[in-house]
Amino acid sequence: MFSDEELLRYSRQILMPGFDIDGQQKLKSARVLIIGAGSLGCPVALYLGSAGVGHLTLVDDDVIELANLQRQIGFELAQLGESKAEMLADRVRRINPLISIATVNQRLVDDDFNRLVKEASLVMDCTDNFDTRFALNRACVAAKVPLISGAAIRGEGQVSVYDQRVAGSPCYHCLYSEQGNEDLNCSEAGVIAPLVGMIGSVQAMEAIKLISGIGSPLIGRLLILDAWQMHWREMKLAKDPACPVCGTG
Ligand SMILES: [Zn+2]
Repeated sequence: MFSDEELLRYSRQILMPGFDIDGQQKLKSARVLIIGAGSLGCPVALYLGSAGVGHLTLVDDDVIELANLQRQIGFELAQLGESKAEMLADRVRRINPLISIATVNQRLVDDDFNRLVKEASLVMDCTDNFDTRFALNRACVAAKVPLISGAAIRGEGQVSVYDQRVAGSPCYHCLYSEQGNEDLNCSEAGVIAPLVGMIGSVQAMEAIKLISGIGSPLIGRLLILDAWQMHWREMKLAKDPACPVCGTG
């Protein structure tokens, strides 16, 4: 059920035939776990919170630094040294006080991932390191909770959706083996500001699609963006039958 305030606040979504009250109700009932409250986590949390996802959990153990402000659009100069998870949660609450938001302000280990993922309807991978991505993928495969993974570096980005509820869906490990991946991140390679907004927005859109059941999600498809050429490419992703995480063998 929605209050008059909610009906007005979400009216531009509810107006859309096909989305309607039913789609909005599904958003309200959803619990989204967002791992990383930085470049991708900011647009993801801002859009999912403003769109009316009922519960968000923001996880990040970092504090805000001056070099973050170039692209991490949830933060302000006055917040340097403050917790990213807390400040992003505050920002989303100031936009939409009608949803609930929890924060986790520490680095997670496998048990934490398993516990948090089990409580979630879906998980947003907004991190910049491979160890966390692989741990998150293992937890999502085990709990059959969909994972929406985004990455952005220099002028290149990619997004895909991994959903073990769908037969034949690959997992993140099917695409990347845990060996031999250098942990290249923005602090070493650089990143152009609006790129993270583009990739984060695609992740948020995919989340709304999965939650509402509308449209065709990016399952089994990897979307790759070359922002300098403004060229989107789509690669088909197949499940690896020998995958140690999601494979049957
Ligand atoms: Zn796999």
